[in-house]
Amino acid sequence: MRLRLDRLFENPGAALPVEESFAPDWDDLSPFSLTEPISLVGRVENKAGVVTARLQLSSKMTALCDRCLESVSIPVSLQVETTLVRSLANEDEEEHFWVLPDACLDTQDLARNELILNLPTRVLCSEECRGLCPACGCNRNQTECGCFDDEDENL
Ligand SMILES: [Zn+2]
Ligand SMILES: [Zn+2]
Repeated sequence: MRLRLDRLFENPGAALPVEESFAPDWDDLSPFSLTEPISLVGRVENKAGVVTARLQLSSKMTALCDRCLESVSIPVSLQVETTLVRSLANEDEEEHFWVLPDACLDTQDLARNELILNLPTRVLCSEECRGLCPACGCNRNQTECGCFDDEDENL
């Protein structure tokens, strides 16, 4: 959704609702891939001259478990809260603000940025995942291969 925010920037107290669902073809989420459309619900509002986008971003992704390589379904639920500005007073502030020189907000760009910033740093099918056996390669969650039985007893 592209939102024209000229009026919003000029009117403290103004707000615009955002509610959309879209299925993007972003290829830079690797190794994650989306399995459900992204839902964005919330609003953009001007409070005392400060324009903020507050959106709930929901979707679902899959990735492979870091230990056993089984596919894992990962629910996505992010609270996006970003201050929107038309220009920066100071270059150092860039990371805290979303700059909209033309006062147009592309909500999909914002969602993509937030999602990439918040990708999980590790993926596990469960905290107890036993992973692949380094000797025979079997999935130790499913198979008792016995390769390390002796050592297990000593632990
Ligand atoms: Zn696993
Ligand atoms: Zn084994």
